[in-house]
Amino acid sequence: MNDIQDLDRRHVWHPFTQAKTMAPPPEAVGGTGAYILTAEGERILDLVSSWWVNLHGHAHPAIAAAVAEQAGRLEQVIFADFTHAPAARLAARLASLLPGDLDRVFYSDDGSTAVEVALKMALQYFANRGEGRRRLLAFEGAYHGDTVGAMSVGRSSGYFRAWEGLLFPVDVVSFPATWLDDAEVEAKEAGALAALDAVLGPEVAAVIIEPLVQGASGMRMCRPEFLRGVAERVKAAGALLVFDEVMTGFGRTGGLFACLKAGVQPDLVCLSKGLTGGFLPMGATVAREVIYQAFLGDSIERAFLHGHSYTANPLGCAAGLASLDLLLADHCLDRIGGIETIHQERLSSLRKTGRGRHPRSCGTVAAIDLGEGGYGSAVGPRLKAFFRERGILLRPLGPVAYFLPPYCIEEADLHRAWDTLEAAMDTVV
Ligand SMILES: *Cc1c(COP(=O)(O)O)cnc(C)c1O
Repeated sequence: MNDIQDLDRRHVWHPFTQAKTMAPPPEAVGGTGAYILTAEGERILDLVSSWWVNLHGHAHPAIAAAVAEQAGRLEQVIFADFTHAPAARLAARLASLLPGDLDRVFYSDDGSTAVEVALKMALQYFANRGEGRRRLLAFEGAYHGDTVGAMSVGRSSGYFRAWEGLLFPVDVVSFPATWLDDAEVEAKEAGALAALDAVLGPEVAAVIIEPLVQGASGMRMCRPEFLRGVAERVKAAGALLVFDEVMTGFGRTGGLFACLKAGVQPDLVCLSKGLTGGFLPMGATVAREVIYQAFLGDSIERAFLHGHSYTANPLGCAAGLASLDLLLADHCLDRIGGIETIHQERLSSLRKTGRGRHPRSCGTVAAIDLGEGGYGSAVGPRLKAFFRERGILLRPLGPVAYFLPPYCIEEADLHRAWDTLEAAMDTVV
């Protein structure tokens, strides 16, 4: 244990971790491309994009330079009273990339706040219009963040038992998770849509969904056809459709955004994780112009009375603009396509061996189930250790092994990860 690890052991509380049984975490001292560098001189392949935030590799020089340049100019300014170029430009670019009149960007701090903002906006939108819509609807297995509102709509993920009594009631509909050669997908979708029809009454304000891929509950994927069915029904019922694209945004699913890939027009979109390329914590909730208009009026009560101290932090916005430049460059989209192709090839050859269950992929995300049980499954830690011994960071979700690499990963490294998974299936699974 080095000095830093000793200070950490005595004073730091780590997220989503049982400190009693955790080994001292390695000290990260640098990063380059898809690799994290440790104080021991190890190079660890970051197969989870450091909790799904990193798009272009660690310490990318273009983003680092943009942040440094902005820091020397203006680090932060109160956004209730000022605007600034990075915030205005980033908002305009997000609006130009998202479909339809998703033209209004509200900045916050992370994915959870992006979700809280969307839920509060949806409820106040109807209150401002004098409509009594107060209920929210979510999908089984959803995860939308760790603040109380986000937990309420994500409660079915089962992480939140300690706070059960505090969460507000939400209607939950089944999620038709699917995989390669799933013969039942249409029946599951029909069942979920029928359940949706049954609860979509005149009291429902908004339906929130992680489009195409439910992340934290195990990279559970659905078809675009299902999202289109959901969107039609939500629209017909007069409720708002919220796409939580905190994980799926910025190329993750193969399209620039999952809503574009699925051909669906949501009313509100939540962004974070990849928004700054993994450099700074920032969230954004993008609303349709019609929603924004309902908050205009002569009284302050009609306005959206919500804000965070660091709203629209200039450093985060500068990182976001630099990250978008990299994302929209041709070679990045090619790389995303290349990752998708390797995932598909390797999954289909794995499937022929009959090992693992429910192989699936969507864009740069690939997943396979390697056992039974939930988040506490014993297979996960064994798999993680097997990869770690081989210099790869994998973070299974219970018995689900998934790959979600930065877009800059070298093909040889991605194949090495798949080879490692095959070897693990022979020994630790
Ligand atoms: C990670 C995640 C969140 C929460 O984001 P934080 O930045 O961790 O608060 C919300 N929704 C989805 C879909 C996520 O994957």
